[in-house]
Amino acid sequence: QQRLKSLGKDSAFKARHVHVVGAGVMGGDIAAWCVQRGLTVTLQDQNIARIAPAMSRAAEGFSKKFRGDRKQVRFAMDRLIADPGGRGVAQADVIIEAIFENLEAKHALFRDIEARARPDAVLATNTSSLRLEDIRTCLQRPERLVGIHFFNPVARMPLVEVVEADGTDATVFARAMGFVHQLDKLPLPVKSAPGFLVNAVLGPYMLEAIRCVDEGMTPESVDAVMESFGMPMGPIELADTVGLDIAVATGKALTGASEVPDALAELVQAGKLGRKTGEGFYVWE
Ligand code: NAD
Repeated sequence: QQRLKSLGKDSAFKARHVHVVGAGVMGGDIAAWCVQRGLTVTLQDQNIARIAPAMSRAAEGFSKKFRGDRKQVRFAMDRLIADPGGRGVAQADVIIEAIFENLEAKHALFRDIEARARPDAVLATNTSSLRLEDIRTCLQRPERLVGIHFFNPVARMPLVEVVEADGTDATVFARAMGFVHQLDKLPLPVKSAPGFLVNAVLGPYMLEAIRCVDEGMTPESVDAVMESFGMPMGPIELADTVGLDIAVATGKALTGASEVPDALAELVQAGKLGRKTGEGFYVWE
């Protein structure tokens, strides 16, 4: 931890404006975290209805952090700007993509971002399972794309993987490391590889746990076993927290299998994606 804390600390790069695309589970919380660290954030989503809940979640978080001090909350909220049209792209120092885990959608978005972003802006993807090498093919300057991979829930997870592929521009990568340090997170430099480091370990763990549900165990009992083993959260609850659609995408990418456990496939088919839809393996308030 001490070593990770010092990584990126010597970077002269200081971001002031971050543009986040995708106001879902991750994008909304990444935006709120950046605001809490003093940055101005523009938040874009193709579905306007996703922006308001992300802003309310941020306001709730600020209210807790500032213990109900309304002035401070308002001051923070002034720096979180709803930007459905994505105008902030043109000014931002760092642009973070956190949209659906779909390669074509990411290509279309990054083409548009590259055309409008400042030439020195850091272009980053928060992808969990797509290869940087595949995403960046749409760019005229593919070397400027890095992965900045936050974990869920953003406010509680200190580690952030900073991903480079062959040929990634060293200056851009150093800026991304500096940016994560600036956010007061622990930047872990990793090479582009399936699951990077953390999900390469966690993905198969969650899938195996769900396979136990296929075999007749209840989600509660699987989670209870792993919690008694010492894990802070059971693997099934973790899958619900991550989002079951994301668990499927990551699981397939990591294991190379075309099938995932039946219990998981059935829930996703029914649109029960975990916490974010109110129901997955568990029912969430
Ligand atoms: P989500 O489904 O909660 O949110 C995605 C948002 O992107 C939606 O609000 C959607 O309207 C918006 N969107 C989709 N296409 C868009 C476009 N072209 N332009 C603008 N907005 C668009 O997804 P999520 O769980 O927040 O995941 C987002 C990304 O983060 C994925 O790449 C995922 O792999 C990655 N990730 C997820 C987790 C997790 O635990 N859920 C953790 C780390 C990384």
